[in-house]
Amino acid sequence: MLNDIESIKNLAQDEIARAGSLKDINDIKAKYLGRKGLLTGKFHSLGSVPREDRPRIGRILNEARNFIESLLRKQEDIFRASELDRSLRSRQIDVTVPGCFIPAGHLHPVTRVLDEISAIFVSLGFTIEEGPEVELDYYNFEALNFPRDHPARDMQDTFFISDDVVLRTHTSSVQVRVMEKNSPPLRVIAPGKVYRCDADVSHIPMFHQLEGFMVDRHIRFSDLKGVLELLIHRVFGRDTSLRFRPSFFPFTEPSAEIDISCVMCNGAGCHVCGGTGWIEILGAGMINPRVYEKAGYDPERYTGFAFGLGIERVAMLKYGIDDIRLFPENDKRFLEQF
Ligand SMILES: [Zn+2]
Repeated sequence: MLNDIESIKNLAQDEIARAGSLKDINDIKAKYLGRKGLLTGKFHSLGSVPREDRPRIGRILNEARNFIESLLRKQEDIFRASELDRSLRSRQIDVTVPGCFIPAGHLHPVTRVLDEISAIFVSLGFTIEEGPEVELDYYNFEALNFPRDHPARDMQDTFFISDDVVLRTHTSSVQVRVMEKNSPPLRVIAPGKVYRCDADVSHIPMFHQLEGFMVDRHIRFSDLKGVLELLIHRVFGRDTSLRFRPSFFPFTEPSAEIDISCVMCNGAGCHVCGGTGWIEILGAGMINPRVYEKAGYDPERYTGFAFGLGIERVAMLKYGIDDIRLFPENDKRFLEQF
């Protein structure tokens, strides 16, 4: 029995020394110390040993088991360490490899211009108001002094939802809505989408406008000029000149169309400005007293100005785009240029 135990110990020691992997270690553990292991078998046959020898042999068996276990543990630690080392090496990080490119979008050029212009007016103390795009004829036309069957309605190719409901043709529709709910002084801009039944290189059926208006006591045309000059200089640079031409809008009196010196040729004349050196950029005027009557303001007490600006028009001039239809197409080749 003692010889058997000694030779099992030596055999196990040899095998552990020759083991090449963790798997070998596990196999050896099973072979000697498993449920049907060689050394385990000796524990089982302890019953056939004479009674007086059992404590001594039992102790020798325990020592043999501890001996094999400690050899196994040592070898196992060595294998685990080298395995960890190997896996760390194989997953080594090369910090010089270029990172993964995650494509990110950016704001649409129209949104950028809209944000830029809105920020200019907010810095002047204007508040931003919104109104519905599906609008009552009343706010889009009638309250702005476009009576029914007035020829000026034909200037705006309107989408009608019904006799009394339209897709708003301008953001001026927000004016009377705001005036009905608020008393002067008012400094308001109303940016948003507008709709007209029209399509060519400079017209699309849905585009963006920014309406602005200011109502208080003693507001003069010179205030309008000052605000628009500041706007144009901030957007197109201080060298840009403005030109006011008399015009007609039902909701302003007097009315003007405002041109700026051509940003492409600096006024020398090019195909963008049609050789004139000037580009029409917005419409404006002093708010017609009839609009105040609709809003319930005293036209003797208050004056004010209003203007409307096409955002796509500004974006086209700012970025040198010659076809307005590119904006809603969402062609990435176009949008990625901004
Ligand atoms: Zn020009």
